[in-house]
Amino acid sequence: MPNLDIDNQGFAQSLWSATATAPAEFPTLEGVEKADVAIVGGGFTGLSTALHLAERGVSVTVLEAREPGFGASGRNGGQIIAGFKHNEVPVGPGLDPDRAARMDRFGDGTAQFTFDLISRLGIDCDAKQGGWAQGAHGDVAMRAIERKAEILGRRGVDLEILSAAETERRLGTNWYPGSLWDPRGGTLQPLNYARGLAEGARKAGATIFTESPVTTVAREGRGWKLTTASGGSVIAEKALFCTNGYSDLFNPIPSLSKSVIPFFSYQIATAPLSDNILKTLLADGVGVSEFRRLLGYFRVDAQGRFIMGARGASDGSMEPPSFDFARARIKQLFPALAEQRMDYFWNGKVAITMDYLPRLIDQGEGLHAAVGWNGRGVAVTTASGPVLADWMMGTSPKELPLPVTPPRPIRFHGLKRKVSSVVALWYDHLDKKERSKPAA
Ligand SMILES: Cc1cc2nc3c(=O)[nH]c(=O)nc-3n(C[C@H](O)[C@H](O)[C@H](O)COP(=O)(O)OP(=O)(O)OC[C@H]3O[C@@H](n4cnc5c(N)ncnc54)[C@H](O)[C@@H]3O)c2cc1C
Repeated sequence: MPNLDIDNQGFAQSLWSATATAPAEFPTLEGVEKADVAIVGGGFTGLSTALHLAERGVSVTVLEAREPGFGASGRNGGQIIAGFKHNEVPVGPGLDPDRAARMDRFGDGTAQFTFDLISRLGIDCDAKQGGWAQGAHGDVAMRAIERKAEILGRRGVDLEILSAAETERRLGTNWYPGSLWDPRGGTLQPLNYARGLAEGARKAGATIFTESPVTTVAREGRGWKLTTASGGSVIAEKALFCTNGYSDLFNPIPSLSKSVIPFFSYQIATAPLSDNILKTLLADGVGVSEFRRLLGYFRVDAQGRFIMGARGASDGSMEPPSFDFARARIKQLFPALAEQRMDYFWNGKVAITMDYLPRLIDQGEGLHAAVGWNGRGVAVTTASGPVLADWMMGTSPKELPLPVTPPRPIRFHGLKRKVSSVVALWYDHLDKKERSKPAA
């Protein structure tokens, strides 16, 4: 069951909350408002969609339960990564080869779209295109990243395979036998980015309400009435839910909450490090995720803190043992940092789908959702804003680069949520089996 206290704590304790610029003030919804499009959720997905709708002259209202960036958007690793989890989006039901290829091309451009948007809006969020690396943990992983470089190369994306020595030089750890280098990626301060997007959307004409969780959704004439716990309502022709891993927090559409599996990811950050230590680490602006199934992801922030993210407790617990996995990853990859003081401990929820692809869901009669970003959302959600705006403005789903599907709640949803810790043990076993050391 979702626990608002845990979600509040995870947000309040984050490094990004501590270092972000002060939030702008937005009103809380009390009366009755009207809009062409109502968006539920003020993360990157909802805010980028609102921005692009408002820029095209559509009247749009965003209803956010807490504040912009309260969900994964304001507490993630801040790594800007191009594309989806797949090297090539797999062909399958609703995904013919042409559509899959369009999705790949769309994914390929998402990191650059994000950097361009940040610079167009002038958002001050420490965005740096320093590159993104994927560390390989052994021979099997090396072959997989080589295959990835080859596949993306055929699409015109230039990725580099780094040797163990070059990986050590760029990432500051000698643990990997090699890595994949993607120059399109980079890092940012995610909460400042969410706040900047909200400000950009407001300036473009969007109306944003905070502390306004939607609790009920009902048909009203030819549109929808969204009622909030703050005592107000919005009547809109169309509604788009962008609630991702937080869809069950207030659960206004239970079938939507069952379209994704929420999964906690944990992060820890050191105190700012000395220049002597920093010069041995990866540069500020470089993001790294591992190829391992139980992956760690790491970077340095603009003030020289080292940040590691990894799995933790499946129930979202903020007790110290929940952060053991991230601590162990630091010790394994960067033994010299293991004794550093850790200043920040926080978590957030990603939304997983069974095929690791996002869902644009047509609930019928103008009720829509865009969820399931699978822990890869900074760039992809941002770049989906104009796509979702097109969809809300009546573009046929066939014309969109992302497929639109009917609601399909995940079968045995409750069970799948529960077995995630058993699956993690199995993944850990496979990762260890595949481990091989860099050549001396
Ligand atoms: C710890 C962590 C680390 C990550 N690291 C990275 C990374 O480095 N790089 C990367 O690309 N991706 C990363 N991700 C994934 C990325 O952050 C997400 O995919 C992305 O932020 C999703 O954005 P969103 O707008 O769809 O959802 P969210 O940002 O989760 O926003 C959903 C919003 O909906 C609101 N909401 C929910 N219910 C209601 C309601 N009933 N009424 C009103 N509002 C409601 C919530 O308050 C929340 O603000 C990470 C995620 C986590 C959790």
